[in-house]
Amino acid sequence: MNAIKILVVEDEVIVAEDIAGRLKKLGYIVTATVVSGEEALEKVAEERPDLVLMDIVLKGNMDGITTAEQIRTKVDVPTVFLTAYADEKTLQRAKLTNPFGYIIKPFQQHDLRVAIEIALHRHEIEAKMRESLKASEATREWVEEKSYRQNQYISMAAHELRNPLNAILISAELLQLDRDRSNDEAQVRTLRLVNSATKKMNQLIDDMLFMGRAESGKLKSHPLPINLVEFCQDLLDQLQLGNEAKHKLKFIPSDVTSAILDQQLLHCIISNLIVNAIKYSPSGGQVSLELQYSQAGDGDKEPIFCFSRECLFPNTQCTNINYPLLIIRIQDEGIGIPETEVGKIFEMFYRCKNTEKIKGNGLGLTIVKKAVDLQGGAIGCESKIGVGTNFTVVLPYVALSSKNHR
Ligand code: ATP
Ligand code: MG
Repeated sequence: MNAIKILVVEDEVIVAEDIAGRLKKLGYIVTATVVSGEEALEKVAEERPDLVLMDIVLKGNMDGITTAEQIRTKVDVPTVFLTAYADEKTLQRAKLTNPFGYIIKPFQQHDLRVAIEIALHRHEIEAKMRESLKASEATREWVEEKSYRQNQYISMAAHELRNPLNAILISAELLQLDRDRSNDEAQVRTLRLVNSATKKMNQLIDDMLFMGRAESGKLKSHPLPINLVEFCQDLLDQLQLGNEAKHKLKFIPSDVTSAILDQQLLHCIISNLIVNAIKYSPSGGQVSLELQYSQAGDGDKEPIFCFSRECLFPNTQCTNINYPLLIIRIQDEGIGIPETEVGKIFEMFYRCKNTEKIKGNGLGLTIVKKAVDLQGGAIGCESKIGVGTNFTVVLPYVALSSKNHR
């Protein structure tokens, strides 16, 4: 065990030297002996002793009690008072500083040792108690946050599932009514409504399940070899098929064709971002998906990748990355995101003010962010109202093999 470091604050130099000598004999380290409160504060800050032995009566502007009070508010170092006499008023003042012990002068070496050891022990126990209180407080907050989120899920799911479910119910009734009239056109319209309502419910259930698995830590990345170009082209083709607003979906592949990535997470990222790009831009607008490969950076050179405006997330280290990256850009010419809201779009259920008329649950980007995080990547967004939005995802790039990764 390391020797205990003690600061002695005593304005009688001879007494101070005597105490220091006794402490050394007992095996303690005396960091310094000082004669005033001001010096004591300086030494405590500089040397962080394990304990301060403090004479109550000190010459100068600060007595021992005021000094102990200031030490207590600044650092977590226990104080033991040394006193030759103690009137009631002084004792009451001393008590307020929560001292860890008193030694009445004159004292025996043994008394000194007992007072110091008890003070250190008490200080250690109090620190442990504070730690466990902090830990239980953190656990309580975590449990509360978790149950709050669960309640949010449940009420949101109930609310959002009710609309499509009602649509299905009404459609079923209409179909029943139309049965005898055999109005084909009306029936097709109604069936389309059922189809879209069911799809919406399905999507919401999928999103909730994804979030549930992510929150409980059950969702993991399972990277496997993937042909990036084919994967993106297929995904764009699927989205183009379901895109009634006839946006132009443009693919700008890089010369990287293959990588090792989690296909499901990648699908989740790209599809959510493209669906948003389509949803929040006018019919016929262009949405582009661009892939880029970036070599490992050199620490001395310019960063190989940096979000051009600002890092949206403080934990995103986008400078001096020294491993290869896959950069995915999804760009639209849509309504844009208000500047003041860009920092909130990845929060669960957050929807921007300018999208009130367009339906959504505010879950897509939360899912995207989780999927990016799970793969050790980062995401950023640049947007201008009325001009468009550009999402950039960077993922660590693992090549399939040195021969075929480019
Ligand atoms: P859903 O859960 O169905 O995806 P959503 O699209 O509203 O619903 P997110 O995808 O999480 O939810 O997006 C959050 C918000 O960010 C959106 O409501 C919208 O206000 C804004 N947003 C996202 N992408 C774009 C975009 N490309 N252009 C403009 N606004 C966007
Ligand atoms: Mg969305």
